[in-house]
Amino acid sequence: MVNDVRVRFAPSPTGALHVGNVRTALYDWVFARKMGGQFVLRIEDTDQARFVAEARDYIAHGLRWLGLDWDEGPDVGGPHAPYVQSERRELYQAATDRLIEAGAAYLCDCSPERLEEVRKKQEAMKLAPGYDGRCRRRDHGELLKAKQAGADVVTRMKVPPVGEVSFTDVVRGEVTFSWSTISDFVIMKSDGLPTYHLAVVVDDHEMKISHVLRGEEWIASTPRHILIHEKLGYQMPSMVHLPLLLAPDRSKLSKRHGATTVQEFEESGVLSEALFNFLALMGWSPGDDRELMARAEVVQAFSLERIQKSPAIFDKQKLEWMNGVYMRQLNPADLATRVAPFLEAEDSGLPASATRPLDLARLARVVPLVQDRLKTLRGADQVRIGEMIDFLYVDRVDPAPAEIVQKGMTVESTAAAFERSISLLKAADPFEHASLDAQFRALTEELGIKTGQLFGSLRVALTAKKVAPPLFETMEVLGRDACLRRLQFALAVLMPARKPG
Ligand code: GLU
Repeated sequence: MVNDVRVRFAPSPTGALHVGNVRTALYDWVFARKMGGQFVLRIEDTDQARFVAEARDYIAHGLRWLGLDWDEGPDVGGPHAPYVQSERRELYQAATDRLIEAGAAYLCDCSPERLEEVRKKQEAMKLAPGYDGRCRRRDHGELLKAKQAGADVVTRMKVPPVGEVSFTDVVRGEVTFSWSTISDFVIMKSDGLPTYHLAVVVDDHEMKISHVLRGEEWIASTPRHILIHEKLGYQMPSMVHLPLLLAPDRSKLSKRHGATTVQEFEESGVLSEALFNFLALMGWSPGDDRELMARAEVVQAFSLERIQKSPAIFDKQKLEWMNGVYMRQLNPADLATRVAPFLEAEDSGLPASATRPLDLARLARVVPLVQDRLKTLRGADQVRIGEMIDFLYVDRVDPAPAEIVQKGMTVESTAAAFERSISLLKAADPFEHASLDAQFRALTEELGIKTGQLFGSLRVALTAKKVAPPLFETMEVLGRDACLRRLQFALAVLMPARKPG
Protein backbone atom coordinates (compact mmCIF):
# COMPACT_ATOMS: atom_id res chain seq x y z
CA MET A 1 0.00 0.00 0.00
CA VAL A 2 1.40 3.37 -1.00
CA ASN A 3 0.90 5.88 1.76
CA ASP A 4 2.90 8.87 0.74
CA VAL A 5 1.31 11.16 -1.77
CA ARG A 6 3.54 11.49 -4.80
CA VAL A 7 2.12 13.02 -7.94
CA ARG A 8 3.73 13.80 -11.23
CA PHE A 9 3.20 16.21 -14.07
CA ALA A 10 4.42 14.49 -17.20
CA PRO A 11 4.30 16.86 -20.15
CA SER A 12 5.55 15.96 -23.59
CA PRO A 13 7.84 18.73 -24.80
CA THR A 14 5.99 19.31 -28.05
CA GLY A 15 5.40 23.06 -27.88
CA ALA A 16 3.89 25.72 -25.69
CA LEU A 17 2.39 24.93 -22.30
CA HIS A 18 -1.35 24.80 -22.87
CA VAL A 19 -3.73 25.88 -20.08
CA GLY A 20 -5.39 22.47 -20.17
CA ASN A 21 -2.07 20.86 -19.33
CA VAL A 22 -1.05 23.36 -16.76
CA ARG A 23 -4.36 22.90 -14.97
CA THR A 24 -3.23 19.29 -14.40
CA ALA A 25 0.08 20.53 -13.03
CA LEU A 26 -1.76 22.94 -10.79
CA TYR A 27 -3.97 20.21 -9.30
CA ASP A 28 -0.89 18.02 -8.87
CA TRP A 29 0.88 20.79 -7.04
CA VAL A 30 -2.08 21.77 -4.88
CA PHE A 31 -2.77 18.16 -3.95
CA ALA A 32 0.88 17.51 -3.09
CA ARG A 33 1.07 20.65 -0.97
CA LYS A 34 -2.20 19.86 0.75
CA MET A 35 -1.11 16.33 1.63
CA GLY A 36 2.49 17.17 2.45
CA GLY A 37 3.53 14.99 -0.47
CA GLN A 38 5.86 15.42 -3.41
CA PHE A 39 5.29 16.92 -6.80
CA VAL A 40 7.46 15.40 -9.50
CA LEU A 41 8.09 16.89 -12.94
CA ARG A 42 8.91 14.34 -15.61
CA ILE A 43 9.59 15.13 -19.23
CA GLU A 44 8.03 12.60 -21.59
CA ASP A 45 10.12 12.99 -24.70
CA THR A 46 10.05 9.51 -26.18
CA ASP A 47 8.20 10.67 -29.26
CA GLN A 48 11.22 12.21 -30.91
CA ALA A 49 9.29 13.18 -34.03
CA ARG A 50 7.11 15.61 -32.07
CA PHE A 51 9.95 16.95 -29.97
CA VAL A 52 10.45 20.75 -29.83
CA ALA A 53 13.74 21.89 -28.37
CA GLU A 54 12.42 25.03 -26.61
CA ALA A 55 9.43 23.27 -25.14
CA ARG A 56 11.25 22.22 -21.97
CA ASP A 57 12.03 25.85 -21.24
CA TYR A 58 8.44 26.88 -21.87
CA ILE A 59 7.27 24.21 -19.46
CA ALA A 60 9.74 25.13 -16.73
CA HIS A 61 9.14 28.85 -17.15
CA GLY A 62 5.35 28.48 -17.21
CA LEU A 63 5.30 26.34 -14.08
CA ARG A 64 7.62 28.68 -12.21
CA TRP A 65 5.63 31.72 -13.30
CA LEU A 66 2.50 30.14 -11.84
CA GLY A 67 4.39 29.29 -8.67
CA LEU A 68 4.19 25.53 -9.21
CA ASP A 69 7.57 24.47 -7.90
CA TRP A 70 8.50 20.83 -8.27
CA ASP A 71 10.22 18.78 -5.57
CA GLU A 72 11.86 16.39 -8.00
CA GLY A 73 12.55 16.71 -11.67
CA PRO A 74 14.81 18.37 -14.21
CA ASP A 75 16.90 21.21 -12.73
CA VAL A 76 16.26 20.11 -9.15
CA GLY A 77 17.13 16.40 -9.35
CA GLY A 78 15.90 13.84 -6.86
CA PRO A 79 16.23 10.19 -5.84
CA HIS A 80 14.69 8.90 -9.08
CA ALA A 81 16.77 10.91 -11.53
CA PRO A 82 16.98 11.27 -14.44
CA TYR A 83 13.53 12.77 -14.89
CA VAL A 84 13.70 12.91 -18.66
CA GLN A 85 12.46 9.77 -20.36
CA SER A 86 14.94 9.75 -23.22
CA GLU A 87 17.65 9.32 -20.55
CA ARG A 88 15.96 6.27 -19.02
CA ARG A 89 16.05 3.85 -21.95
CA GLU A 90 17.63 0.93 -20.05
CA LEU A 91 14.70 0.79 -17.67
CA TYR A 92 12.20 0.51 -20.49
CA GLN A 93 14.28 -2.08 -22.31
CA ALA A 94 14.55 -4.15 -19.14
CA ALA A 95 10.78 -3.98 -18.67
CA THR A 96 10.24 -4.97 -22.30
CA ASP A 97 12.56 -7.96 -21.91
CA ARG A 98 10.69 -9.04 -18.79
CA LEU A 99 7.35 -8.77 -20.57
CA ILE A 100 8.60 -10.84 -23.49
CA GLU A 101 10.03 -13.45 -21.13
CA ALA A 102 6.75 -13.65 -19.28
CA GLY A 103 4.93 -14.25 -22.56
CA ALA A 104 3.04 -10.99 -22.19
CA ALA A 105 4.66 -9.25 -25.16
CA TYR A 106 6.19 -10.23 -28.49
CA LEU A 107 8.34 -8.91 -31.30
CA CYS A 108 6.75 -7.74 -34.52
CA ASP A 109 8.31 -6.80 -37.83
CA CYS A 110 5.19 -5.88 -39.75
CA SER A 111 6.00 -3.10 -42.18
CA PRO A 112 4.09 0.16 -42.28
CA GLU A 113 2.79 -0.93 -45.70
CA ARG A 114 1.36 -4.13 -44.29
CA LEU A 115 -0.23 -2.29 -41.36
CA GLU A 116 -1.78 0.12 -43.82
CA GLU A 117 -3.21 -2.76 -45.84
CA VAL A 118 -4.67 -4.30 -42.71
CA ARG A 119 -6.22 -0.97 -41.82
CA LYS A 120 -7.80 -0.59 -45.25
CA LYS A 121 -9.26 -4.07 -45.15
CA GLN A 122 -10.71 -3.42 -41.72
CA GLU A 123 -12.17 -0.18 -42.96
CA ALA A 124 -13.76 -1.91 -45.95
CA MET A 125 -15.27 -4.53 -43.67
CA LYS A 126 -16.39 -1.86 -41.21
CA LEU A 127 -14.24 -3.35 -38.46
CA ALA A 128 -12.51 -1.36 -35.75
CA PRO A 129 -8.95 -0.56 -36.83
CA GLY A 130 -6.14 -2.30 -34.99
CA TYR A 131 -3.23 -4.67 -35.32
CA ASP A 132 -4.38 -8.11 -36.48
CA GLY A 133 -1.95 -10.08 -34.33
CA ARG A 134 0.02 -11.67 -37.15
CA CYS A 135 3.38 -11.75 -35.31
CA ARG A 136 1.87 -13.07 -32.08
CA ARG A 137 2.11 -16.57 -33.49
CA ARG A 138 5.56 -16.25 -35.05
CA ASP A 139 8.83 -17.62 -33.79
CA HIS A 140 10.52 -15.29 -31.30
CA GLY A 141 14.04 -16.49 -32.15
CA GLU A 142 13.54 -15.68 -35.80
CA LEU A 143 12.26 -12.18 -35.10
CA LEU A 144 15.03 -11.55 -32.61
CA LYS A 145 17.59 -12.51 -35.22
CA ALA A 146 15.99 -10.14 -37.73
CA LYS A 147 16.08 -7.39 -35.14
CA GLN A 148 19.74 -8.03 -34.35
CA ALA A 149 20.46 -7.93 -38.08
CA GLY A 150 19.05 -4.41 -38.14
CA ALA A 151 15.45 -4.95 -39.24
CA ASP A 152 12.75 -2.62 -37.95
CA VAL A 153 11.24 -4.64 -35.15
CA VAL A 154 8.87 -3.38 -32.47
CA THR A 155 7.50 -5.03 -29.34
CA ARG A 156 3.77 -5.41 -28.86
CA MET A 157 1.76 -6.20 -25.79
CA LYS A 158 -0.58 -9.19 -25.92
CA VAL A 159 -4.04 -7.87 -25.23
CA PRO A 160 -6.70 -10.32 -24.03
CA PRO A 161 -8.98 -11.01 -27.01
CA VAL A 162 -12.17 -11.01 -24.97
CA GLY A 163 -13.49 -9.89 -21.62
CA GLU A 164 -13.57 -6.57 -19.83
CA VAL A 165 -11.30 -4.46 -17.71
CA SER A 166 -12.59 -2.25 -14.92
CA PHE A 167 -10.99 0.22 -12.63
CA THR A 168 -12.10 2.82 -10.15
CA ASP A 169 -11.32 6.35 -11.13
CA VAL A 170 -11.34 8.81 -8.23
CA VAL A 171 -13.41 11.27 -10.27
CA ARG A 172 -15.49 9.05 -12.52
CA GLY A 173 -16.04 6.04 -10.29
CA GLU A 174 -16.12 2.59 -11.85
CA VAL A 175 -14.99 2.65 -15.47
CA THR A 176 -15.18 -0.40 -17.74
CA PHE A 177 -13.66 -1.06 -21.13
CA SER A 178 -14.00 -4.09 -23.33
CA TRP A 179 -10.68 -5.65 -24.36
CA SER A 180 -12.08 -6.25 -27.81
CA THR A 181 -11.76 -2.53 -28.52
CA ILE A 182 -8.01 -2.65 -27.92
CA SER A 183 -5.56 -4.46 -30.19
CA ASP A 184 -1.99 -5.57 -29.46
CA PHE A 185 -0.28 -2.21 -29.04
CA VAL A 186 3.35 -1.25 -29.41
CA ILE A 187 5.32 -0.77 -26.20
CA MET A 188 8.83 -0.55 -27.65
CA LYS A 189 9.57 1.08 -30.98
CA SER A 190 12.22 -0.02 -33.44
CA ASP A 191 14.38 3.00 -32.51
CA GLY A 192 14.83 1.60 -29.01
CA LEU A 193 12.52 4.13 -27.42
CA PRO A 194 9.41 3.05 -25.56
CA THR A 195 5.95 4.26 -26.43
CA TYR A 196 4.12 6.47 -23.97
CA HIS A 197 2.18 3.49 -22.59
CA LEU A 198 5.23 1.56 -21.45
CA ALA A 199 7.25 4.56 -20.31
CA VAL A 200 4.43 6.00 -18.24
CA VAL A 201 3.88 2.71 -16.41
CA VAL A 202 7.55 2.03 -15.75
CA ASP A 203 8.17 5.56 -14.53
CA ASP A 204 5.06 5.87 -12.40
CA HIS A 205 6.18 2.67 -10.70
CA GLU A 206 9.88 3.55 -10.43
CA MET A 207 9.07 7.03 -9.16
CA LYS A 208 6.59 5.63 -6.62
CA ILE A 209 3.73 7.74 -7.92
CA SER A 210 0.67 7.32 -5.70
CA HIS A 211 -1.89 9.28 -7.73
CA VAL A 212 -1.98 9.83 -11.46
CA LEU A 213 -3.76 13.10 -12.22
CA ARG A 214 -4.25 13.71 -15.91
CA GLY A 215 -6.77 14.94 -18.44
CA GLU A 216 -9.79 12.86 -19.30
CA GLU A 217 -8.47 12.37 -22.82
CA TRP A 218 -6.13 9.75 -21.33
CA ILE A 219 -8.82 7.64 -19.75
CA ALA A 220 -9.04 5.28 -22.73
CA SER A 221 -5.31 4.56 -22.34
CA THR A 222 -5.78 3.32 -18.81
CA PRO A 223 -6.68 -0.32 -19.73
CA ARG A 224 -3.33 -0.57 -21.52
CA HIS A 225 -1.58 0.75 -18.46
CA ILE A 226 -3.43 -1.65 -16.21
CA LEU A 227 -2.35 -4.55 -18.41
CA ILE A 228 1.31 -3.54 -18.31
CA HIS A 229 1.21 -2.92 -14.57
CA GLU A 230 -0.29 -6.32 -14.00
CA LYS A 231 2.17 -8.18 -16.21
CA LEU A 232 5.12 -6.46 -14.57
CA GLY A 233 3.70 -7.21 -11.14
CA TYR A 234 3.31 -3.54 -10.27
CA GLN A 235 0.59 -1.99 -8.18
CA MET A 236 -1.65 0.54 -9.94
CA PRO A 237 -1.59 4.08 -8.60
CA SER A 238 -4.92 5.80 -7.95
CA MET A 239 -6.31 7.19 -11.18
CA VAL A 240 -7.71 10.71 -11.21
CA HIS A 241 -8.95 11.83 -14.61
CA LEU A 242 -9.64 15.54 -14.69
CA PRO A 243 -12.63 16.86 -16.66
CA LEU A 244 -12.05 18.32 -20.08
CA LEU A 245 -11.53 22.01 -20.41
CA LEU A 246 -13.81 23.41 -23.12
CA ALA A 247 -14.57 26.73 -24.75
CA PRO A 248 -17.97 28.34 -24.00
CA ASP A 249 -19.37 26.82 -27.21
CA ARG A 250 -18.31 23.46 -25.77
CA SER A 251 -15.76 22.88 -28.50
CA LYS A 252 -12.16 22.03 -27.77
CA LEU A 253 -10.34 25.08 -26.46
CA SER A 254 -8.14 26.29 -29.31
CA LYS A 255 -6.35 29.27 -30.77
CA ARG A 256 -9.52 30.79 -32.18
CA HIS A 257 -10.76 31.28 -28.61
CA GLY A 258 -7.85 33.60 -27.90
CA ALA A 259 -4.95 32.93 -25.57
CA THR A 260 -4.59 29.26 -24.68
CA THR A 261 -0.99 28.95 -23.54
CA VAL A 262 0.53 30.06 -20.28
CA GLN A 263 3.01 32.20 -22.14
CA GLU A 264 0.24 34.00 -24.03
CA PHE A 265 -1.50 34.82 -20.77
CA GLU A 266 1.73 36.05 -19.24
CA GLU A 267 2.44 38.20 -22.28
CA SER A 268 -1.08 39.57 -22.32
CA GLY A 269 -0.46 41.01 -18.87
CA VAL A 270 -2.53 38.61 -16.82
CA LEU A 271 -1.28 38.18 -13.25
CA SER A 272 -0.08 34.72 -12.37
CA GLU A 273 -2.10 34.70 -9.14
CA ALA A 274 -5.27 35.46 -11.13
CA LEU A 275 -4.59 32.66 -13.60
CA PHE A 276 -3.81 30.34 -10.69
CA ASN A 277 -7.10 31.16 -8.98
CA PHE A 278 -9.02 30.87 -12.24
CA LEU A 279 -7.51 27.52 -13.24
CA ALA A 280 -7.99 26.10 -9.76
CA LEU A 281 -11.74 26.50 -10.29
CA MET A 282 -11.69 24.94 -13.76
CA GLY A 283 -12.88 21.53 -12.66
CA TRP A 284 -12.85 21.86 -8.90
CA SER A 285 -14.75 23.95 -6.39
CA PRO A 286 -14.35 24.49 -2.68
CA GLY A 287 -17.95 23.46 -2.03
CA ASP A 288 -19.13 26.94 -1.19
CA ASP A 289 -19.55 30.03 -3.34
CA ARG A 290 -16.05 31.34 -2.90
CA GLU A 291 -14.49 32.41 -6.17
CA LEU A 292 -11.61 34.60 -5.16
CA MET A 293 -9.17 32.29 -3.50
CA ALA A 294 -5.52 32.91 -2.88
CA ARG A 295 -3.08 30.09 -3.43
CA ALA A 296 -2.99 29.09 0.25
CA GLU A 297 -6.78 29.02 0.46
CA VAL A 298 -6.99 26.72 -2.55
CA VAL A 299 -4.44 24.38 -0.97
CA GLN A 300 -6.31 24.43 2.30
CA ALA A 301 -9.71 23.69 0.73
CA PHE A 302 -8.58 21.22 -1.94
CA SER A 303 -9.76 17.64 -2.10
CA LEU A 304 -9.86 15.16 -4.97
CA GLU A 305 -13.47 14.39 -4.07
CA ARG A 306 -14.56 17.85 -5.13
CA ILE A 307 -13.19 17.51 -8.65
CA GLN A 308 -16.17 17.58 -10.99
CA LYS A 309 -17.04 15.09 -13.72
CA SER A 310 -18.58 17.53 -16.17
CA PRO A 311 -16.35 19.55 -18.46
CA ALA A 312 -15.01 22.85 -17.18
CA ILE A 313 -15.91 25.81 -19.35
CA PHE A 314 -13.15 28.28 -19.94
CA ASP A 315 -14.85 31.61 -19.34
CA LYS A 316 -12.50 34.36 -20.44
CA GLN A 317 -14.64 37.13 -19.00
CA LYS A 318 -14.37 35.55 -15.61
CA LEU A 319 -10.60 35.46 -15.87
CA GLU A 320 -10.60 39.12 -16.88
CA TRP A 321 -12.78 40.00 -13.95
CA MET A 322 -10.56 38.06 -11.55
CA ASN A 323 -7.49 39.64 -12.99
CA GLY A 324 -8.98 43.09 -12.42
CA VAL A 325 -9.64 42.25 -8.80
CA TYR A 326 -6.08 41.01 -8.25
CA MET A 327 -4.70 44.03 -10.09
CA ARG A 328 -6.50 46.40 -7.74
CA GLN A 329 -5.20 44.54 -4.70
CA LEU A 330 -1.53 44.98 -5.59
CA ASN A 331 0.42 47.50 -3.58
CA PRO A 332 2.03 50.30 -5.60
CA ALA A 333 5.58 48.95 -5.41
CA ASP A 334 4.48 45.50 -6.53
CA LEU A 335 2.32 46.86 -9.33
CA ALA A 336 5.17 49.09 -10.49
CA THR A 337 7.61 46.18 -10.61
CA ARG A 338 5.16 44.12 -12.58
CA VAL A 339 4.13 46.74 -15.12
CA ALA A 340 7.69 47.96 -15.70
CA PRO A 341 8.64 45.30 -18.28
CA PHE A 342 5.41 45.95 -20.15
CA LEU A 343 5.97 49.70 -20.11
CA GLU A 344 9.57 49.33 -21.17
CA ALA A 345 8.54 47.34 -24.23
CA GLU A 346 8.48 49.30 -27.46
CA ASP A 347 4.78 48.90 -28.11
CA SER A 348 3.61 50.03 -24.66
CA GLY A 349 2.49 53.51 -25.75
CA LEU A 350 5.02 55.14 -23.45
CA PRO A 351 6.94 57.88 -25.29
CA ALA A 352 10.44 57.05 -26.44
CA SER A 353 11.64 60.03 -24.37
CA ALA A 354 10.94 58.10 -21.14
CA THR A 355 14.30 56.81 -19.96
CA ARG A 356 14.51 53.07 -19.67
CA PRO A 357 14.88 51.28 -17.35
CA LEU A 358 12.10 53.19 -15.64
CA ASP A 359 12.63 54.61 -12.18
CA LEU A 360 10.63 52.15 -10.09
CA ALA A 361 10.19 54.50 -7.14
CA ARG A 362 8.59 57.11 -9.39
CA LEU A 363 6.58 54.46 -11.19
CA ALA A 364 5.23 53.32 -7.82
CA ARG A 365 3.85 56.84 -7.39
CA VAL A 366 2.47 56.88 -10.94
CA VAL A 367 0.68 53.52 -11.14
CA PRO A 368 -1.89 54.14 -8.39
CA LEU A 369 -3.25 56.91 -10.64
CA VAL A 370 -4.43 54.38 -13.19
CA GLN A 371 -4.67 51.22 -11.11
CA ASP A 372 -8.48 51.15 -11.13
CA ARG A 373 -8.58 51.42 -14.89
CA LEU A 374 -6.09 48.65 -15.60
CA LYS A 375 -7.51 45.35 -16.72
CA THR A 376 -4.12 43.77 -17.27
CA LEU A 377 -0.52 44.83 -16.88
CA ARG A 378 -0.79 46.03 -20.48
CA GLY A 379 -3.67 48.40 -19.90
CA ALA A 380 -7.37 48.25 -20.64
CA ASP A 381 -9.39 47.21 -23.67
CA GLN A 382 -8.72 50.16 -25.93
CA VAL A 383 -5.91 51.93 -24.10
CA ARG A 384 -2.40 50.75 -23.53
CA ILE A 385 -0.92 51.48 -20.13
CA GLY A 386 1.77 53.67 -21.65
CA GLU A 387 -0.90 55.88 -23.20
CA MET A 388 -2.62 56.28 -19.84
CA ILE A 389 0.47 57.71 -18.19
CA ASP A 390 2.44 59.13 -21.12
CA PHE A 391 1.88 62.73 -20.00
CA LEU A 392 3.93 62.00 -16.89
CA TYR A 393 6.92 61.00 -18.99
CA VAL A 394 7.23 64.04 -21.25
CA ASP A 395 8.56 67.54 -20.61
CA ARG A 396 5.42 69.22 -21.83
CA VAL A 397 2.06 68.42 -23.32
CA ASP A 398 0.29 70.16 -26.19
CA PRO A 399 -3.26 70.88 -25.17
CA ALA A 400 -5.58 72.28 -27.86
CA PRO A 401 -7.10 75.66 -26.86
CA ALA A 402 -10.57 74.49 -27.84
CA GLU A 403 -10.25 71.61 -25.41
CA ILE A 404 -8.90 73.67 -22.56
CA VAL A 405 -11.87 76.02 -22.55
CA GLN A 406 -14.81 74.25 -20.98
CA LYS A 407 -18.50 74.65 -21.67
CA GLY A 408 -19.83 77.97 -20.35
CA MET A 409 -16.29 79.41 -20.07
CA THR A 410 -14.45 81.84 -22.32
CA VAL A 411 -10.80 82.12 -23.13
CA GLU A 412 -10.67 85.10 -20.79
CA SER A 413 -12.41 83.49 -17.85
CA THR A 414 -10.25 80.38 -18.31
CA ALA A 415 -7.08 82.46 -18.46
CA ALA A 416 -8.13 84.34 -15.34
CA ALA A 417 -8.84 81.10 -13.55
CA PHE A 418 -5.41 79.80 -14.58
CA GLU A 419 -3.72 82.93 -13.21
CA ARG A 420 -5.37 82.29 -9.87
CA SER A 421 -4.55 78.59 -10.08
CA ILE A 422 -0.90 79.40 -10.64
CA SER A 423 -0.77 81.53 -7.49
CA LEU A 424 -2.52 78.81 -5.57
CA LEU A 425 -0.05 76.16 -6.75
CA LYS A 426 2.92 78.36 -5.91
CA ALA A 427 1.74 78.83 -2.37
CA ALA A 428 0.35 75.32 -1.74
CA ASP A 429 1.95 73.79 1.31
CA PRO A 430 1.95 70.85 1.58
CA PHE A 431 1.79 70.06 -2.12
CA GLU A 432 -0.52 67.17 -1.56
CA HIS A 433 -3.76 66.07 -3.22
CA ALA A 434 -6.25 66.36 -0.36
CA SER A 435 -5.35 69.94 0.47
CA LEU A 436 -5.04 70.89 -3.23
CA ASP A 437 -8.50 69.47 -3.74
CA ALA A 438 -9.93 71.59 -0.91
CA GLN A 439 -8.19 74.75 -2.07
CA PHE A 440 -9.24 74.37 -5.70
CA ARG A 441 -12.83 73.75 -4.65
CA ALA A 442 -12.73 76.95 -2.63
CA LEU A 443 -11.32 78.72 -5.67
CA THR A 444 -14.26 77.66 -7.86
CA GLU A 445 -16.63 79.13 -5.32
CA GLU A 446 -14.70 82.33 -5.20
CA LEU A 447 -14.66 82.57 -9.00
CA GLY A 448 -18.31 81.58 -9.21
CA ILE A 449 -17.67 78.73 -11.66
CA LYS A 450 -18.48 75.05 -11.51
CA THR A 451 -15.87 72.57 -10.29
CA GLY A 452 -16.24 70.73 -13.61
CA GLN A 453 -15.35 73.90 -15.48
CA LEU A 454 -12.16 74.59 -13.57
CA PHE A 455 -11.09 71.00 -13.07
CA GLY A 456 -11.83 70.13 -16.69
CA SER A 457 -9.64 72.93 -18.02
CA LEU A 458 -6.86 72.16 -15.55
CA ARG A 459 -7.00 68.49 -16.53
CA VAL A 460 -6.54 69.30 -20.20
CA ALA A 461 -3.79 71.82 -19.45
CA LEU A 462 -1.84 69.35 -17.34
CA THR A 463 -2.38 66.17 -19.31
CA ALA A 464 -3.69 67.16 -22.77
CA LYS A 465 -6.29 64.47 -22.16
CA LYS A 466 -9.99 64.62 -21.50
CA VAL A 467 -9.93 61.32 -19.71
CA ALA A 468 -7.11 61.27 -17.22
CA PRO A 469 -6.41 60.08 -13.69
CA PRO A 470 -7.84 61.97 -10.70
CA LEU A 471 -6.73 65.57 -11.02
CA PHE A 472 -5.20 66.32 -7.63
CA GLU A 473 -3.39 63.01 -7.34
CA THR A 474 -2.02 63.78 -10.79
CA MET A 475 -0.84 67.20 -9.63
CA GLU A 476 0.89 65.66 -6.66
CA VAL A 477 2.73 63.14 -8.85
CA LEU A 478 3.60 65.75 -11.49
CA GLY A 479 5.00 67.99 -8.79
CA ARG A 480 4.75 71.71 -8.32
CA ASP A 481 7.26 72.78 -10.95
CA ALA A 482 5.82 70.70 -13.75
CA CYS A 483 2.28 71.82 -12.89
CA LEU A 484 3.34 75.46 -12.99
CA ARG A 485 5.18 75.05 -16.29
CA ARG A 486 2.22 73.33 -17.89
CA LEU A 487 -0.25 75.95 -16.69
CA GLN A 488 1.96 78.80 -17.90
CA PHE A 489 2.26 77.06 -21.24
CA ALA A 490 -1.51 76.57 -21.44
CA LEU A 491 -1.96 80.25 -20.70
CA ALA A 492 0.39 81.09 -23.57
CA VAL A 493 -1.55 78.72 -25.79
CA LEU A 494 -4.81 80.41 -24.82
CA MET A 495 -3.72 83.99 -25.36
CA PRO A 496 -3.09 83.91 -29.12
CA ALA A 497 -6.48 82.31 -29.37
CA ARG A 498 -8.05 85.41 -27.86
CA LYS A 499 -10.20 87.03 -30.48
CA PRO A 500 -8.93 90.50 -31.42
CA GLY A 501 -10.99 93.46 -30.27
N1 GLU B 1 2.95 12.81 -21.70
C1 GLU B 1 1.53 12.86 -21.53
C2 GLU B 1 1.07 14.24 -21.93
O1 GLU B 1 1.67 14.84 -22.74
C3 GLU B 1 1.20 12.53 -20.10
C4 GLU B 1 -0.10 11.84 -19.88
C5 GLU B 1 -0.15 11.30 -18.47
O2 GLU B 1 -0.14 12.12 -17.55
O3 GLU B 1 -0.16 10.10 -18.29
O4 GLU B 1 0.11 14.79 -21.47
